[in-house]
Formats: sequence, structure tokens, C-alpha cells
Amino acid sequence: MRGQLSFALCTFGCQMNKSRSEHLRYLFLQDGFSQAEREEEADVLVFNTCAVREHAVQRALGVIANLYRSALKKRGVPPILVLCGCMSELLREELLKKLPYINVLVGTQDFEVLPRLVWEAYTDNKRCVLFSPPSPPPFLEQGYKREGGTSTYLPITFGCDNFCSYCVVPYTTGPQRSKPKELILEELEAIVKEGFREVTLLGQNVNSYGKDFGCPQAFEDLLMSIEQSFRGTPLWVRFITSHPRDMRKEVVEIVQESTLLCPYFHLPLQAGSDRILSLMNRGYTKSQYLDLASFIRERIPKAAIGTDIIVGFPTESDRDFEETLEVVQKVEFEIAYTYVYSLRPRTKAAELEDNVPERTKKERLEVLSKILKEGYLKRLRCHEGRRTEVLVFQENGKLVGKTKENLRVLFEDSKVKEGQFLQVELEVIPGGRLLGHRVSG
Ligand code: SAH
Ligand code: SF4
Repeated sequence: MRGQLSFALCTFGCQMNKSRSEHLRYLFLQDGFSQAEREEEADVLVFNTCAVREHAVQRALGVIANLYRSALKKRGVPPILVLCGCMSELLREELLKKLPYINVLVGTQDFEVLPRLVWEAYTDNKRCVLFSPPSPPPFLEQGYKREGGTSTYLPITFGCDNFCSYCVVPYTTGPQRSKPKELILEELEAIVKEGFREVTLLGQNVNSYGKDFGCPQAFEDLLMSIEQSFRGTPLWVRFITSHPRDMRKEVVEIVQESTLLCPYFHLPLQAGSDRILSLMNRGYTKSQYLDLASFIRERIPKAAIGTDIIVGFPTESDRDFEETLEVVQKVEFEIAYTYVYSLRPRTKAAELEDNVPERTKKERLEVLSKILKEGYLKRLRCHEGRRTEVLVFQENGKLVGKTKENLRVLFEDSKVKEGQFLQVELEVIPGGRLLGHRVSG
């Protein structure tokens, strides 16, 4: 019966949302819904939303309204509109006012009952709104059958306890709940059986994995168990995000010794000045950050370090910003995501005046990008002529390679296949890109 209803799923935001949508898709299929070929033709339009920046919220509202309109036009009758995720959690009533045609609204906690709510909304012709409080045991703790492919995600924690002053995530996702180790290992087993080649363990702060069940070093224990259980398996294991305050040197040492764990550390800096870091409630200083980065560089010289940086946090002066640039120059990040500060309701920083002019924020972003690029180009030199293994995967419809350090590699060879591990010799080509020449063995 439910097979008569088709659904389309649109996902905004972070990897955690992508992973949850993968799971949600499975739940809808299990419940008898079918996947629509085109979004505009779907009976049920599901939006898994993000609220981390105002821009993400505005963009989502625009996409939802547009898609709803085109579906209505195409089908002649309105689709069932479903919103879930962080934006729903944060805005709740406001959303019902802005989009009065919403049929089902849940936050971040009620994904597993969504197919049932959609069915109720459809059969009883009513609106369903549900916001359950965050509950242990962790949300969606059981494994599920993935869609298949080369790479997938595996959440190891849900929620966040860190309350960085600018960030809305602890308010939208609740306190940290860690997934029991046995479940993670079982899920990994299934991931290997399903033929995946790469898995990324997800958590807002992976180093605090297990703190909620009283084990402060549980992340090291988890990594070692993964190494023991899966050594020799053709699988790469990554993890994000490492909070610089909680990242222990033992984790670097475990990665250094491992054959499965990839030497890529995503260590969001956010800002370089101690004054701003303290206002952000990040819990580390510039020198502690630099110390950690140089430990990684020293122990695993080819390892890549990625980061997130916010410019224009309230009261950020030119001098504060220069300290961010100083860290960027010293560390030479391989990967960086940069953001302009966005005031978020309910956060501590919202009490501060958002006083850095828009023009200054934009200028800082431009200077920062330039310095980041210079550092990246310098780091690339250590890969010139290097022989290494790459994994072939699809990105924006093209086949590209990825090194264990998470660097993109282009191919001239058209015979490469998705999911292959290949030995290549790397060449740095103009524009700061890596080209992989296939070598045997
Ligand atoms: N848990 C991760 C990050 C989650 S949010 C961590 O601690 O690093 C992803 C990134 O969005 C953050 O690292 C931060 O750089 C950025 N971000 C979060 N809130 C923001 C805000 N209010 N304005 C601008 N950028 C923000
Ligand atoms: Fe937000 Fe900080 Fe938690 Fe990351 S660690 S999700 S930035 S509060």
C-alpha cells in the first residue's frame, strides 16, 4: 500500500546529516515507500535541514519553497512536505508560520518514526509535529543496509557537550550520546561485507567518544579494536572531527602505527588569538594548538591537517586576525573550510554585539584564503614524485582518486574504476593539483 507513495530526500549541511539521510532513505524503503525518480514528481518531499549558519537556513527555505512549488505544478496536487533536522529543531513554530503547508515536522530526535508520521499525515489528512527530547540509548543505534558505493559514514556519537559560544549544534542535537563499541564494530563488519572501501567515523568531537559512559580514553580503545579486528581488510578508516582541546597525542601514535587508519586530522582552529579562543569557549590556546600540529608533523610527516576557521567573530581586531594568519602560516593546512561569523539564536556569543563590519569580514576572508593557498602549495611539495596508494571514487560525476591523507588526485588514465585501490606516482601540476601516474605493484 505504502509503495504507492514515492519519496524524495534533500539533504543540507554536514556529513552527519548525509549519514542520517542515508539511514532515513533505508527506513522509508523498509516501510514500503518507493524512491521517486525526480524530486518534483515525489508524493513526499523530505528535507533534512541544517542551522549552523544563517546562510544555510535562508538557502534551505528558498530551496524548499521552490521545490514545493514545482512539485505542485507538476503533480497538480500538493506533495506531502516533511522537514526534519537542525533547522526544524531550532525554528519550530516559526517554520510553521513561514511554511504553513508543512505536513510533518520533527527535529533531530524522531527520524525513526518519520515514515509512520508521513503515513498518518497522508491517511488522516492531518499535520504531525513531534519534538522528543534527546534520549539514551543513542538515536538510530542499530545498523542498517546502506545504498552501496565506495565510501560511507558511521556516526559514533550524537550530540555535543562543548558549547562553543558561537555554535548552535549543542542546542539542536542535545548532549553527547556515544554508540556502544560493540555496535560500531558490528556495523563496520556489515560495511566491509557490503563492499565499501572507506568509512568515516563521525562525531562532533570524536576524542570525547565514551565520556558519557565514563571512559575518558574510549576513543583510543575503539581505534585499537578497529585496527585489531580489521587489519588486512581492504578498508580505509577516517574520523572527524578532532577537537584540539581533547585530541590526545596517543591518537596520533595509534594512527602512525596503523595500516587502516588514515593520517588525516581534521582539527578546527576557529581562531588564532587567545582572547578570541577564550571568548569562543574553545578550551585551548594558540600555543597548545601549534604544539599539537607540530607533534603531528613530526610523528607522521606526510599526514594532512585540515581545519575550520571563522573570521569576524564579535570584537575580532586586526591584531587578533593576524594571529589567525600566523597559525595558518606555521601549520600550512592541506584542507581548510573558512566561514564568516554568523550570529545564532540561543548561543552565548549572540549576547555580544556582532560588531565587525561586513566589509572587513569579507576582506579578512580573502586574505585568509590567499595565505591558506600559499601554505597548501608548500605542503604539496612533499608529495612530488611520491609513490602511494589512491582510492578511486566518484566526485561530481567524475572519477578521481584520494590519498590516505585525503588529498584529491586526478588521472589521465581513463581505465580506472570506482572502488579500486591503485598504486600511483604523484606529480604536482599547475594550479596546485596532483596528478596520479599509474605504476604497477
Ligand atoms: N564539531 C565540529 C564542527 C561542527 S560545525 C568542531 O568542533 O569543529 C562546522 C563548522 O562550522 C565549525 O567548525 C565552525 O567553523 C563553523 N561554524 C559553526 N558555527 C558557526 C557560526 N555561528 N558562524 C560561522 N561559522 C560557524
Ligand atoms: Fe559546535 Fe563546538 Fe560542538 Fe563543534 S564542538 S559542534 S563547534 S559546540
